[in-house]
Amino acid sequence: MAKRTPTETKQAIRATAPADLEPQTEGSELRDAVISRGRRLGLTGWARDDTLDGVRVHAEGAPGAVSELVSFLQSQSPAAVQTEAVPVEGHEQFAARGVSAGAFVVQEHQATAHHFDFRLEVDGVMRSWAVPKGPSLDPAVKRLAVEVEDHSLAHNTFEGSGHGGGVIVWDQGTYEQGGRVAWPEALQRGHAVFVLHGEKLRGGFALQRTRPADPPQWLLIKRRDDEARPGSDVTNESPRSVLSGRTLDEVMR
Ligand code: MN
Repeated sequence: MAKRTPTETKQAIRATAPADLEPQTEGSELRDAVISRGRRLGLTGWARDDTLDGVRVHAEGAPGAVSELVSFLQSQSPAAVQTEAVPVEGHEQFAARGVSAGAFVVQEHQATAHHFDFRLEVDGVMRSWAVPKGPSLDPAVKRLAVEVEDHSLAHNTFEGSGHGGGVIVWDQGTYEQGGRVAWPEALQRGHAVFVLHGEKLRGGFALQRTRPADPPQWLLIKRRDDEARPGSDVTNESPRSVLSGRTLDEVMR
């Protein structure tokens, strides 16, 4: 566990450490070394591989420990490390960023009511939310997401019809966990930030719990980034299954 240092005595930096990009060298070796060193120094933050720049790091904690990590970066990097002071963000872990945490899927589902089932792979199951209006790429739009029972990973590719209803795989891909708190605790605490790499849904999203139980209710919100599409309506613009190319109506016909 990270040492607890009062926020007012903490310091935060962003650093870019050029990595040796020779083909036989994995950039992630430097990333992983930074993470384990940062954890041992009692620091929090993140490190990610950047194809062009090398390894990018956010580190915060006691000033002496931050300096030690910068020295370590300099010792491991083939070229000068660039650092800048940034505000302390309150990270509770030292995490790898840009790393897949597993699958995500969105299934459009006509049951008693029409909705989209939004599912994230967490600890071997698909945590699931029923989103009546479906996800949006517009950061101004907050979509109600009602927590529903976990599903198995095997269900991720299910499409079909019956009993007057139907299911299509509206989007699928992988996701990265983000935010300042480790998963799955972020979900337990009711605020989870993640990055989707789907065919339709891309970039940062947040799930924010607004009601604790009976059943838990959340809001699904697109974060403001390069993948945001203000004013868009992705469920209407891109209605077809990413598996079969069919619409839900065509599956149920
Ligand atoms: Mn459903």
